[in-house]
Order: sequence, then structure tokens, then C-alpha cells
Amino acid sequence: MIDPFRYDYLQEAPHKRLIRVSPMQVQLIRHATLFVHINGVKLLVDPMLSPKGSMEPVSNAGNHIRIPMVDLPISETQVQTLVQTADAILVTHLHRDHWDEAATQLIPKQTPVFCQPGDENQIREKGFTVVEPVIDCLDWQGIQIYRTGGQHGTGEIGQKMGKVSGFVLKKPGVPKLYIAGDTIWCDEVQLALEKHRPVVVVFNAGTAQFMSGDPITMTAADVKQVHQAAPKAKLVAVHMDTINHCRLSRQELKNFIRQENVAQKIYIPNDGEILSF
Ligand SMILES: [Zn+2]
Repeated sequence: MIDPFRYDYLQEAPHKRLIRVSPMQVQLIRHATLFVHINGVKLLVDPMLSPKGSMEPVSNAGNHIRIPMVDLPISETQVQTLVQTADAILVTHLHRDHWDEAATQLIPKQTPVFCQPGDENQIREKGFTVVEPVIDCLDWQGIQIYRTGGQHGTGEIGQKMGKVSGFVLKKPGVPKLYIAGDTIWCDEVQLALEKHRPVVVVFNAGTAQFMSGDPITMTAADVKQVHQAAPKAKLVAVHMDTINHCRLSRQELKNFIRQENVAQKIYIPNDGEILSF
């Protein structure tokens, strides 16, 4: 049986005209970096733009593989186009797999950056002149940007990881998009699903974990929880196969959702893939 979600994508993506017809596209650039088009407004989310192997590995992860472990799916020229054409940047938190040195150098400094409260000074220190913390909600270009909460792990490790946020983007006539950020399944995520009833949820899987302590991003079981809490939502799983502390691969998650019979609404895009909604 053809999954209708995937079928739509295969039918639509090759035809540029549909970019105009469909109100929202979400492109996975790599890891948690997304390029979101909402009625022609372009948002670059959690930009990590370093070339493969250019950063030190995450320590205490059980291996010493340099990161990112894969190249960007687009050329240097296309990266330039990406950062030049982005109307704004959305940053869920400042860990280097979401906001790296390459991104801070490449993105034009006058591009508005939306972030969680507390991160604005570090972003301004990089030279960005328009930095807007999202306290609860703000309006920009006709899009309502809500901030949501999350837990970047449990116990002491969760504390160490610091505060993280997600964002919900709403615009009349456009499917509601919830970008959950680096969070495990927790009350904050459940609350966000109940409060906003998103049509599309992008969440960070990968079961990122250190040698000790619980996972700090979603596990396969967490993914199932999200689906059970929002059975009608289209789920998009990212944050896999790129950073050395992520233990859950795309393939493993694909196998899991098939075994659990929850594959119908859960999509696992490849780097560079564009999903239209
Ligand atoms: Zn992350």
C-alpha cells in the first residue's frame, strides 16, 4: 500500500509549480537544520552549516567520530543562496549542532534571529543586529511564532543540557507546524500538542545519549508516544545519522515504526528532501 503522505510528496516535489500551490514546504537540510517556506516566507531553522568532520566529536559519547558525520546535501553556492534568501532564522537553543560557527559566519548579520529568552546576548555577540527572543508568542510577517517548552534529558544531565525550546508557527490557511526542538517525550511536548493541535510535527529523534544517563533527545519509544498523543498529525523525524552521540539511526527508526504499525503518519526524510503540506 502506498503511504498517502509519501505519495503526495513524490507526486508534488519534482514540480516547482507546486511550490506555489502548496502553502508550506519543509526541507530537511541536515540533522535539525530545516528550510521552511510558509506562503513564500522563508525561515532557516537551527542552522548547523559546518562541512563534514570539521568539528570535534561530542565527548563522552562512546566514540570519537568527528562531526558532522555527513556533508550537507547542497553545494557551497546553494548554501550561500540559502542563507542569503532566508527571511529569518529560528534557533531553538545554542548547542553547536543547532547553531554553529559556520552558520554565524555565513548568515547575513541583519537577518532577524528568533530565539529563546536568555540566548539573545550570545547571538548579538556574533554580530547579529536583529535578535528577538520569543517569550510566549510574537507576530512576524503575518506568522504567529509561539514558543514551546521541552526537556533536553532527565536528572542531572537534563539540567546540564540547559534550557531548550520549540516553536509553533501559525498562519491562516497554512497547516500548523510544531518544531519541537531538542526534547525527549515529556509533559511540555504533550502540552504543546494539546494546546496547538499541530498538523505537522517535526521532532528531534536520534536517541542522543552520553556514556551515563538517559537519552537527551527522542527515542523510538518517544516517537510512538508523540504519534499516540497526536494520531492525526503528520510526524517528521529528524536529528539522526549526523552527530556522534545519536544512537538511533534512520534505518532503526524505520524498522521500529514498521514493527509497531505506526509508519503511516511518521515520515523520516533524507537530507535535502522537501516535504510539501
Ligand atoms: Zn541536537
